[in-house]
Amino acid sequence: MASSSYSNPPCAACKFLRRKCLPSCTFAPYFPPEEPTKFANVHKIFGASNVSKLLNDIPPHQREDAVNSLAYEAEARLKDPVYGCVGAISFLQRQVLHLQKELDATNADLMLYDVSHSFPVLSNSTFSSTDAQYNGGESNPGLLHPHASPWNNDSSNDSKSM
Ligand SMILES: [Zn+2]
Repeated sequence: MASSSYSNPPCAACKFLRRKCLPSCTFAPYFPPEEPTKFANVHKIFGASNVSKLLNDIPPHQREDAVNSLAYEAEARLKDPVYGCVGAISFLQRQVLHLQKELDATNADLMLYDVSHSFPVLSNSTFSSTDAQYNGGESNPGLLHPHASPWNNDSSNDSKSM
């Protein structure tokens, strides 16, 4: 955004602070006038002078990332004054843990399923023929997966009427 003339509209920060937006304005590249709430939020949480100091300490190619991070943190802090963006982070961490447990359980199920199909003789020997009848003809109801798996339709050891 090359501000060659003074007739350009002031950036959101300078408009908010009611000051003249000079071509050297630190805020202008990151707080366009079309996004007034972005600066208002950041100013409310961090303070304009702190943001200005912070931007001057950061190499120019990283300033946009820093401003986006500040804007995200400020918005989260305004929505959740206690936890801020940490609330969102810990929610996602809990979700990752939950999904990891689900994945582990599913992998364990798959291993059991593999075992029950690799050793059909073992499972047949543990149940008598009458047990198998009570269980609806299934030779090993504990280990067999209740749902049909798309990758194993031709199960040779259990003869269901298709
Ligand atoms: Zn400005």
